[in-house]
Amino acid sequence: MNCNECGDQLNAFVDRELTAGELGEVQRHLDDCPPCLQIFELQAGLKRLVRKECCQDEAPARLRAWVRKLPTEERRV
Ligand SMILES: [Zn+2]
Repeated sequence: MNCNECGDQLNAFVDRELTAGELGEVQRHLDDCPPCLQIFELQAGLKRLVRKECCQDEAPARLRAWVRKLPTEERRV
């Protein structure tokens, strides 16, 4: 896997939407490639932040409305 392929799969990787084999390939690339690992950590951190914000009652209503409009990414099984 090269960096381009890794970048293509990174979003799905963050959302755990890949098969076990694909997950392993991305994981192996991230182990060897600090720049891609950094991008992954950025994306994963951002996602965690959004989830955390949207579960708090004091989160701005506008943010929650925005989050609700995002495509539901966890419906795929
Ligand atoms: Zn890379």
